[in-house]
Amino acid sequence: MELRLTGRKVLVTGGSRGIGRGIVLGLARAGADVATCYRTEGEAVTSLARELKETVGDHHLVKADVSDPAEVDALVEVCRVSFGSLDVVVHNAGVISHVPFAELPVEEWRRVVDTNLGGPYLVTQRTLPLLSAGGSVVFVGSRVATVGIPLRAHYTAAKAGLVGLTRSLAKELGPKGLRVNVVAPGPIETEEPTPAEVRERYRKMIPLGRLGTPDDVAGVVAFLASDLSRFVNGETINVDGGI
Ligand code: NDP
Repeated sequence: MELRLTGRKVLVTGGSRGIGRGIVLGLARAGADVATCYRTEGEAVTSLARELKETVGDHHLVKADVSDPAEVDALVEVCRVSFGSLDVVVHNAGVISHVPFAELPVEEWRRVVDTNLGGPYLVTQRTLPLLSAGGSVVFVGSRVATVGIPLRAHYTAAKAGLVGLTRSLAKELGPKGLRVNVVAPGPIETEEPTPAEVRERYRKMIPLGRLGTPDDVAGVVAFLASDLSRFVNGETINVDGGI
């Protein structure tokens, strides 16, 4: 058994930094042709472009906000022109936010829900015409969506919404040969430094004794993107070290 992604055409949203960057590089190194999007131009995008060029050659980086229908349409058009079709769509773009629920402004509720749940709705709907039988849709959810956490009611509501979206789409799109699943990471260390006391608190909570890395998440995404997971549909896979 071999995890083969050679020639698979993949769109990963929010690939310029953090977990998304790990997913883009991981899938590209496994042989996939990868396109990704981001909102902000800058060093993160430049350095991803450099790394992709050095390791895999061809790649497509597109500035597009997943919560904006016109920008999503433009992103999907780049995928259509460059790839013709898609085999895998990984919905990673997300924003985190910490606000006491009693003080949560409606604008912040909308920003967080529009990005974390509205983005996956838009991108899934608009990429459907490019996906054919054998295709895989992967949402990056969050472990806290099922256990809850203070100050993140809006974030966890959106991430929990992805689980419902997944279960329904698995049933609606399964007959077309498409699979839909969620990867739910626990605490993952990215370029954003985790304060030492927070890291220590998590370390004590996580049986494997460490925070996760973007590569830990990318490995499970690669499994779901590959044929090895061909009978896995409508599932949520936690990537949390057993927290
Ligand atoms: P980062 O903030 O480090 O990176 C987020 C990425 O998504 C960036 O590339 C960002 O681009 C992009 N992005 C954000 N909003 C949009 C948007 N509206 N349209 C397009 N791209 C966008 O996040 P993480 O790597 O920490 O998290 C990635 C995913 O994993 C998120 O969905 C998050 O909720 C989830 N997650 C993370 C955990 C963690 O511990 N880190 C734990 C559980 C889940 P730009 O820089 O241009 O904004």
